Amino acid sequence: MSDRIQSVSILGSTGSIGVNTLDVIRRHPERYNVFALTGHSQVELLAQQCREFQPEYVVISEPRHEEVLKALLGGLNTEILSGSSALEMIASHQDVDIVMAAIVGAAGLLPNLAAAKAGKKVLLANKESLVMSGQLFMNTIEDSGATLLPIDSEHNAIYQCLPNGQMSSELGVDKVLLTASGGPFRNFSLESLHNVTPAQAVAHPNWSMGQKISVDSASLMNKGLEFIEACWLFNCDADQVEVVVHPESVIHSMVSYVDGSVLAQMGNPDMRTPIAYGLAWPDRLASGVKPLDLFEVAQLNFEKPDTTRFPCLALAKQSFKDGGCAPAILNAANEIAVAAFLTDKLSFLGISQVVEGTLNGVENHSSESLENILYADKKARDYASSLIQRMNGK
Ligand code: NAD
Ligand code: MG
Repeated sequence: MSDRIQSVSILGSTGSIGVNTLDVIRRHPERYNVFALTGHSQVELLAQQCREFQPEYVVISEPRHEEVLKALLGGLNTEILSGSSALEMIASHQDVDIVMAAIVGAAGLLPNLAAAKAGKKVLLANKESLVMSGQLFMNTIEDSGATLLPIDSEHNAIYQCLPNGQMSSELGVDKVLLTASGGPFRNFSLESLHNVTPAQAVAHPNWSMGQKISVDSASLMNKGLEFIEACWLFNCDADQVEVVVHPESVIHSMVSYVDGSVLAQMGNPDMRTPIAYGLAWPDRLASGVKPLDLFEVAQLNFEKPDTTRFPCLALAKQSFKDGGCAPAILNAANEIAVAAFLTDKLSFLGISQVVEGTLNGVENHSSESLENILYADKKARDYASSLIQRMNGK
């Protein structure tokens, strides 16, 4: 255990992961100091977090919010910054030890890369950035000697079940079993999926999360993104990752070994467990999560995923196999489609149609340079937006 207080920057502190991270940090003031907090639109919550944790810096996305934030902070000694380069600065600052990457979507890519390049201990919740830039991100981590710890509960579970967090056939690892809750529509017929609403989609049966990931969980795109995330994080082939639907969300994922052993990591579905694991690694830390009561759980069930009702999972797998910028195109189209669904401009089943149409319509570059990734992201967003307009008869 390090005896020095660790300095933490939280990218996306006002979100679901950000708030849970601060909850864990609040329990351990002797171990962690908050260096920087960042937020997009929830200025009041951001100000409240600053008053409690007194960071050196606070970053708000848009300059127009700076004045309001300043007024809310009063005489507080926290420097207020805005914009994307400020996010990169607080993610790579020499005084920072740990970066919690918890911005949602592609907006997290550049600050996460900055943290990776600066050799930080990177706690990765933002899966979209890894999906977009897999090879580049992993190379950056390796070149700088940064430590990458997965916060996504499934990947955190896999990390805990692998020898030294590594997928190694020499150490007898055979397969990764990636669990999925199945989301709120697990038992819905294809017919009834036509009319589901955003409110139904964000009401996840087991987890309380941000809106975008909740819709992704309902469409199984979340599992598709996580499939790609697992392949990059653990350096495994597509056929070494199997998705297993497990509705109770008590087993967070598993690793199977050549001798027939299957190791599982279990716990209540509460993100403070993987967050505390990442913060404390290689130690352990009390997180505030209720102990698992197996008698209350009583039963664990497993089933195969259905890609006819949930085509997003198959689309994501295929994009990983296609390689190059295909996963970045998939991710961008999905972000646009989910935003349209949440504002009633697209049906739930329209999400996979937009993603598939965009994958077919936007040219894939085989070279995964940052420039190509950002170009593919932009092209895919434009394509998906016009596709949605056409679907709406405009
Ligand atoms: P959320 O919507 O609750 O929070 C997102 C955060 O990102 C907020 O702080 C918001 O201010 C910030 N943000 C949004 N758009 C931004 C932009 N354009 N520029 C800068 N900042 C911006 O999301 P969440 O549920 O906390 O998820 C965050 C990330 O963690 C996602 O990538 C998600 O897939 C991943 N994740 C979340 C959970 C969970 O339980 N919530 C679990 C696993 C992984
Ligand atoms: Mg997950």
